[in-house]
Formats: sequence, C-alpha cells, structure tokens
Amino acid sequence: MKQNVHGKSLTEWQAEFPLLKNIMDLHPVFWTNGKQLPMKEVPPLPVTREDIIEADKRWKRFAPFFEKAFPETKAAKGLIESPLRHIPHMKKRLKDYYNEPFQGNLYLKCDNELPVAGSIKARGGVYEVLKHAEDLAIANGLLKKDDNYEIFTDPAFTSFFSQYSIGVGSTGNLALSIGTISAKLGFNVNVHMSGDAKQWKKELLRSKGVNVYEYNGDFSEAITEGRKQTLEDPNGYFIDDEHSKDLFLGYSVAALRLKEQLLGQGVKVDRDHPLFVYLPCGVGGSPGGIAFGLKQIFGDYVYCIFVEPTHSPSVLIGLMTGEEDKVSVQDFGIDNRTEADGLAVGRPSSFASEISRHLISGIFTIEDDDLYKLLAILADSEGIRVEPSAAAGLMGPAKLAGASFIKKHRLDDKMGKSAHIAWSTGGNLVPEGGMDRFYQKGKGLLR
Ligand SMILES: *Cc1c(COP(=O)(O)O)cnc(C)c1O
Repeated sequence: MKQNVHGKSLTEWQAEFPLLKNIMDLHPVFWTNGKQLPMKEVPPLPVTREDIIEADKRWKRFAPFFEKAFPETKAAKGLIESPLRHIPHMKKRLKDYYNEPFQGNLYLKCDNELPVAGSIKARGGVYEVLKHAEDLAIANGLLKKDDNYEIFTDPAFTSFFSQYSIGVGSTGNLALSIGTISAKLGFNVNVHMSGDAKQWKKELLRSKGVNVYEYNGDFSEAITEGRKQTLEDPNGYFIDDEHSKDLFLGYSVAALRLKEQLLGQGVKVDRDHPLFVYLPCGVGGSPGGIAFGLKQIFGDYVYCIFVEPTHSPSVLIGLMTGEEDKVSVQDFGIDNRTEADGLAVGRPSSFASEISRHLISGIFTIEDDDLYKLLAILADSEGIRVEPSAAAGLMGPAKLAGASFIKKHRLDDKMGKSAHIAWSTGGNLVPEGGMDRFYQKGKGLLR
C-alpha cells in the first residue's frame, strides 16, 4: 500500500470519502453516485447516439458473414444477441435467502448465452475486430459497404488479413472473443493473458491457432506488455480495453436490442415504471457502453448500477474519488484477487470512466462467496448456469432495497411497477466440469 496517493495520505483520503474505509476493509458497500445528472444536463460526451446507430448498421452488414462462418448464429439471422428471461422463481428464492424483499419483476439478460464468445465480450471485442477488418478491406479496394459481407469468408480475404496482426491484453474473456473472431477472419492474433486467466481459455485459444502469452501479473501488466509488443509491428493493431471507443460502441448496441425485447415482453419503461439494470463491472467498458446506450434510449427512467468484487473495486474508487484511471485498487492496499476473473481489474478504463461519470446511479460491491451462492440459487430455481462474474448483478434488487437509494430518488411508490434486469455476462464456454465445480461450491456455501 502506498503511504501517499496523489499527495494525500490515506487518512486524508478516508476523511474526504468516508466510504473508503469500508472499501479498504473489503466490506460490501453501496455507493450512490452524487455526480449523476439528469440527461438534459449531461455535458457533451465523446460518443453520440448516432455512433450507436452506425455501430448497429455495421453489425447488420456483417450478418451474412456470421451466418456462414458461425452457423450457430443462423437462427438469429447472423445477429449476435441473447434472450431476456423473466426469472420469477429466482426472485422468490432471493427473497427467502437474503431476507431483503423487493418489489418489481426480475429479469436476466442472458449474455452468458451469446454465440461466438460465450460472454458479453462477444459484443465489444468482436465488434472492434469487425470494424478494423472492414476499414482495412475498404482502404485496400477489396470491399464496398453495400457488398454482401459473406465475402469475408473468401480465401482471398483471409489471406489478405494474414499480413496483419491483432493484439490484446485480457483476463480471459476478451482474449476469447478477439482470438476467435480474428483467427476466423485470417488475422495473426496474439493474446496477452493475466495470471488469473483460466487454463481452459488458453487451451481453447491455442486450438484455434491463436498465439497465447502468459503473465504472472494482473490485467494491467498483460495489457501494458501486449500494447508494447503489438505496436512494434507496423501492421499490428492493438485492442485497448483501457481506452477503446470501438469496444465501447460495440457494447452500446445492446441497448437498441434490449429496447425491442422489452417492448416484445410488454415491459414498460417510463415515469411510473422505472427500470433498474445491474451490470457486472471490470474495467468499466461493457457496463459503461451498455449504460450509455440505455441512457440514450430511456433517459432518466433507467437507473444503471455497476457491480464489482470487494477485492477489485477499481471503477468505484475511480469514480468516487474523481481520480478515475489515475488510481488503482492497489494504491489503497486492495489486492485485486477474486474468483470473478472477468471482473479482476485494478485500474478502470479512462474512456469508459469519463462517460459513466454523470450517467450511472451507483456501484455496489459483492463478496466472492455470494457470487457462488447466487449462481447455485439461479441454477436450482431457473435451470440457468452462469460463471461467477455473471451472477453479480443478481444481488442488485436486494442491495437497492437495503440502501437509501430508493428514498433519495423518490421512487418508493413506483417500485411495485418497476423492472430489474440482472445482466448475466458469461458462462456458455465454461467446460462442463468447471461449471459443476462452481455449482458445488455454491451449494456448499448455502448449506
Ligand atoms: C469482461 C467481463 C465483464 C466486465 O466488462 P468490463 O468491460 O471489463 O467492465 C463482466 N463479466 C464478464 C464475464 C466479463 O468477461
């Protein structure tokens, strides 16, 4: 732990931000974002609503490619999307177990089922690679935007892309998404994995022809080294989870799709029907991108709440102190060790933090044991299996009910008509044995 962070002692930091003591002691906390603004008062952001629409169009141009290259996307006509499921049994079980009753319907946004990458990274990571591939193909006279993008499966295309390399630093899931799509398009792809990345992810990537580099250190080390090595290659392109606008926009498109799904299921979002969305958070890109999209669509009627492990509260510390990417959890003596590998990030994304600053309603932290308990309760009550990171949002409604948030926002009389969405972020590619271990661990903790 540093004695001094940006010229202030830890005692001074704690005096300025009283919640910090609890955060440093690794207690679960709920933080309400005092800087959240009504949408009409939010200063101009580096991304716009039009950017989301452009990104959606790009996904649609690539749909014929996906249908051909990833036949599992055929049913959805080449779109990478996941179902929204009503989970009333889970709501009841949550109420019984955590003894914190809450009002409103509970839904699960099942990004654990996303094709191609089996996690929410299928949105951001895949999108940025598509954009890069499209840019290269157009710049080299191989493609026009109104062509049928099935041609991306042509040997002429894959051999063209083999002159180029793509690099990424990851705790695991981003590497899975970037590695899978890049290898399919023909790129030379190098992934730099942090010490907490799971062995099966490395093996799966190697089986697809991806070069996997392993580091003992955490995500920040993998990303720094990956960035350096990739940029030494003049034909190299680095996908930068700490700064990328394209990753962010890939995620944001989820909001347009969710809007359709809510309409389809008759879920209203308006002044009398607030929507609460609980988003597991690592570097802040996926929850930030989705929150940004949702705020563009539902404005002040949607409340976006991030969830981080008690051992990795990087976005929480960044936003609460206002220092954003200038501080890490390690600066405050927190070890960034969590079983939730997708959330094991010690320093937040600068790009995403700037956007989330005025848009999100709050952040809460959760202990690893609760992630396991929640995934076991979800499996028993709804028959849905997810990885630990992906279960984090399920704690949201109970947390919210226990905090002063609802009163502060004068929502008491509206909660009966509210909807809660826990965003489930990963799980489908976890090997069977691994999933069983997660479940057994959760069952053991519940006993
Ligand atoms: C990456 C990831 C997240 C969080 O996304 P960030 O962009 O890092 O904030 C959440 N859940 C899972 C399973 C992930 O892989």
